[in-house]
Amino acid sequence: TDITTLLLSRIRDVADYPEPGVMFKDITPLLADPAAFGALTEALAEIAERTGATKVVGLEARGFILGAPVAVRAGLGFVPVRKAGKLPGATLAQAYDLEYGSAEIEIHAEDLTADDRVLIVDDVLATGGTAEASIQLIHRAGAQVAGVAVLMELGFLDGRPRLEAALAGAPLEAL
Ligand code: 5GP
Repeated sequence: TDITTLLLSRIRDVADYPEPGVMFKDITPLLADPAAFGALTEALAEIAERTGATKVVGLEARGFILGAPVAVRAGLGFVPVRKAGKLPGATLAQAYDLEYGSAEIEIHAEDLTADDRVLIVDDVLATGGTAEASIQLIHRAGAQVAGVAVLMELGFLDGRPRLEAALAGAPLEAL
């Protein structure tokens, strides 16, 4: 089987989660399957290498699960972007709008340097708000963005056009 077929076969659609009208893409069956999880890690690590990344930034929480093995596999450091209030050190914070209300994410600024090229890893790109705020955090930390790599892009939510300006030519890769 090709990798797209394998990965898709391990993603479960859950209707009306976390609220009515939403079809949630559940990746836990994929994580539980070593062949699928391994193939995903391998494919994301290949993107890290191809884009010349020096660090992997994972977005809380599923971006941690995917990003950490990618970083180890590609021989890169891992830096978490967390929801506000979870990191103990000196942080940079970025607020962004949700459909209803707003959210805030943080990063330890000292974990990135001006020499770093960062690959942002997450499971799902939906509206692109979280990834866009992460790009802003990485730029504010003084580093460059090598790209954004996700397992899945929900195209009907228009995350890609939203991210394109912030990416300034860096790739958005969805497996
Ligand atoms: P965005 O900021 O792009 O609207 O939302 C992306 C974030 O929400 C990601 O961190 C992603 O994990 C989560 N997310 C949104 N929709 C889904 C979904 O259907 N499945 C999963 N697994 N995560 C989702």
